[in-house]
Amino acid sequence: MLLNLCAIVLAAAAGISAGVISFPTYEIELYNGYDLKGSVHERHSGTFASPSPVTQESFCMTHQFMVNKHQSNNRLYSFKYTVHDLNSGLNMKLRLYRTPDCKDEYIAGEMSIDIALLAVILLSILLCLLFTRQSPRDPNQRLVNDLGWAQSSAVSDKEQSTAKNLPAFTTRQLTQSTFLITEWDDIWNEHPFIYAKIVPAAETILIVDTGCGGRTLNTDIGLTSLREYIETVGVADNGGRPLNEGRRMRYVVVQTHCHYDHILGAEAFAVDSPILASGHSPSFVSPSNLPSHSQCNALGIRTPSYRLTLAPHLHQIVAGDQNSPSSVPLGVELLHTPGHTPDELALWDAGEQMLYVGDTLYERDPIIFPNEGDIVLWFSTMDWLISFVKSQANAGEVRINCGHSTAMGSALEVLQAAKSFMQDVITGKVDLWDRYERRGWWAVEYRQEGGRFSLICPERLVLEARMALEV
Ligand SMILES: [Zn+2]
Repeated sequence: MLLNLCAIVLAAAAGISAGVISFPTYEIELYNGYDLKGSVHERHSGTFASPSPVTQESFCMTHQFMVNKHQSNNRLYSFKYTVHDLNSGLNMKLRLYRTPDCKDEYIAGEMSIDIALLAVILLSILLCLLFTRQSPRDPNQRLVNDLGWAQSSAVSDKEQSTAKNLPAFTTRQLTQSTFLITEWDDIWNEHPFIYAKIVPAAETILIVDTGCGGRTLNTDIGLTSLREYIETVGVADNGGRPLNEGRRMRYVVVQTHCHYDHILGAEAFAVDSPILASGHSPSFVSPSNLPSHSQCNALGIRTPSYRLTLAPHLHQIVAGDQNSPSSVPLGVELLHTPGHTPDELALWDAGEQMLYVGDTLYERDPIIFPNEGDIVLWFSTMDWLISFVKSQANAGEVRINCGHSTAMGSALEVLQAAKSFMQDVITGKVDLWDRYERRGWWAVEYRQEGGRFSLICPERLVLEARMALEV
């Protein structure tokens, strides 16, 4: 059985090495070694089934299916497997994920075994030693290494020390000037999308959101500061150089809204750089309201403290002092787009025809409204954004980039599809998926068939929208 487990795990690792692009997070349970049932644990759960009985081949097929299914969603996260053998009581947790340079796959894992199973453990070590000696090539080597059989591994000390200092971020290039930075294993499973636009003429990097501050439970992650990452870690898509090597460029930071998963890395930039936010509702982001509106209070974490520069609707972002003739425009405009929160904003990069929408919408993860959200306002914002994109000469070419999950989508199509889903929710065409009490109020969840869009919000917001829209 142990050998079977090893074979399955190693086969999964081999499957991963076959040139995949993205790794969402899953937990897969192998019951009795023969039935594979799984639950998907990204930000929210789902389920899937696999051919049964499970063989090495069907396990790999299921794994590859999951990878392929999510290949297009631009996420670079880990797979988590829980392998549980009911006969022996053996549990094995594995984590499979990519290296930060996105070239190679990296594999880590841990094992938890009942003390009574010591004999099984010893046997497993012997078997796996044998097995890995027969298959000495990476990435299996790293898997075995991290499972605790370090002595059997040919991985060098240098590589091991690197493994414990992985950055909390990965980066890939989206356009000539713009990079997508993903926080790939944060403690809250938010996996925020952070965008960095390099404007050489202004010697400036525009940073859109600053993520979760590198907070993680992953002990392989050692570098958690977004700013340090940008300044010191080489990016394959940037010729192997850090995005801001040697701090040559200054920063302008924009927060799409004040939720914790978009602001926890802001303090490191605020010491010498402006942090722009929506001026639509100044009190919403005031220092006295930030702890609750950022949700830091609810999570029991310290609210970051930094000074905001509130910008009006249609504000043209510049590098340098706004009122100085030496300021340089970055070619990006801020748009007030309240709905998700009162301070939600979008950015429009006319040169690259890119729209950034924060948490107003995204695909495959639930669109979440907090108590301060407003669905009626959200519809107005969506109508405005749709007509804004339509007013562009090449509307069909405009790309949309969201705060999670979606990047480089077709803006018009994604905006219209998200609006259509929400209309179906409000008009009762989508069945209620779940209703539960949350922090003293009722939350409701709706899911579109096929899973592209879903919604979680206070029930009150749906009822208010039905009243306002006379449904
Ligand atoms: Zn949010």
